Amino acid sequence: MKFNSLKIRVLAWFASLVAIILLVFSLFLYHSLNSSINLKIQQRLSNTALLIKENIKTKKSLSLILKSPKYKLYDIAVYKDKKLIAKKGDTNFQKLFTKVGGAEFSTIENGDFFNACYILNLTENNIKIIIYQKNIDDKIENIVYIMFFSELVLLLLLVLLGSKLIDKILFTIKSITKTAKNISVDDFSSTIPSPKYDDETRELVLAFNEMIHRLKDGTKKIERFNSDVSHELKTPLTVIKGEIEIATLKPRDITYYQTILGKIEVEANQIQDIIENLLLLTRYTKENIKQTYKLCSMESILLNTIEVFDTNLKEKDIKIHIQKIENIQLNTNEILINTIFSNLIDNAIKYSPNGKNIYISLYKKDNHIHFIIKDEGIGIPKDKIDKITDRFYRVDESRNKSIKGFGLGLSIVKNSIMLLGGTLHVESKVGVGSKVEVIFGRGF
Ligand code: ADP
Repeated sequence: MKFNSLKIRVLAWFASLVAIILLVFSLFLYHSLNSSINLKIQQRLSNTALLIKENIKTKKSLSLILKSPKYKLYDIAVYKDKKLIAKKGDTNFQKLFTKVGGAEFSTIENGDFFNACYILNLTENNIKIIIYQKNIDDKIENIVYIMFFSELVLLLLLVLLGSKLIDKILFTIKSITKTAKNISVDDFSSTIPSPKYDDETRELVLAFNEMIHRLKDGTKKIERFNSDVSHELKTPLTVIKGEIEIATLKPRDITYYQTILGKIEVEANQIQDIIENLLLLTRYTKENIKQTYKLCSMESILLNTIEVFDTNLKEKDIKIHIQKIENIQLNTNEILINTIFSNLIDNAIKYSPNGKNIYISLYKKDNHIHFIIKDEGIGIPKDKIDKITDRFYRVDESRNKSIKGFGLGLSIVKNSIMLLGGTLHVESKVGVGSKVEVIFGRGF
């Protein structure tokens, strides 16, 4: 067992606290018992003295009175005008008198016992009655010893019980540590059995098990992402390799090489696009995004982006109608805003047949910025809407065959919106068109 372990520390605190409480309690008990016993004896001796006083009044012989069995426990002396007139027992009262100094009641240590002395002064007839009881065994020390040992036993029992209780609580922490040690990227099979009672330890275990599940899902996503990336990069690379292999089989004329190099350039551009998109997905994080913020004109970013697509729009005879545009200044990351706008405009153009229309709005409402883009394109089946923001996901490859893309655009859009603290909403109807709305809620 480690000496700096939580258990030892808690036990040490617990034992010290209990010891202090017991000590205070014992001291209190000692003082109360002591004064109560003394009071009891004082009362007994005082009653005896008063009884003798009454007997004196009967004018009976004092020596006879003192011989009564009632007084057999005591040594007694009666003085009148400082002269000893009657005495019982072998006590040297003169010596005793100097010892107690005339106090009404006093106790004197006597080995394992103690003696008690009570003096009754009767001023009216100048009589002094001294009652002395020897070898009283009501000594509080004996009780104190018993109390000390029982408290020691009690303390040990409490520490033992506390230790068992701490073991019970630490069992959950120990299981978590053990399970955490077993978890690795290759093995997420370990989970902690849920405790019987619905308490804080159960909450901790549930949270820990949920974390394992999240890690498992995350790792699965990374694995799928890796295999998707490899797959996407492999296709253009295979094309490039194939073209080079065929071209180097035998000498060719210059136009052949020009055609081949053109094809290779297309594939190389594709690889570059994928890599740039992937880099964009990982470049910004929640931690570093705020440092990249600067005041941007949303209107300028949008208009510049639309301009970039001028050729594509003309090629497909698609018209963009700006329904509403407000000059909004936003403290944000310009690259990500640009990426969001360009990917959504690109998709609206890509997935719309020739001669259709695209409607765009950008405005501020209730402290939120709304960007809406509507197209009259092929639309997205209802059950696929949730998936279109997954990395490398493309709705039905066959319908997309002629349309360029890797299925990364919307995942980048979603990630960018999430980093900027906004939300994405997609509505679509196959054959009618799609409406994508982005709402930015923070950053003003
Ligand atoms: P990409 O366009 O490169 O395939 P995205 O991530 O941008 O990848 O989009 C994922 C899929 O969602 C697309 O393959 C497409 O099937 C569908 N999609 C996205 N935008 C639209 C749209 N405006 N109209 C119809 N389908 C769309």
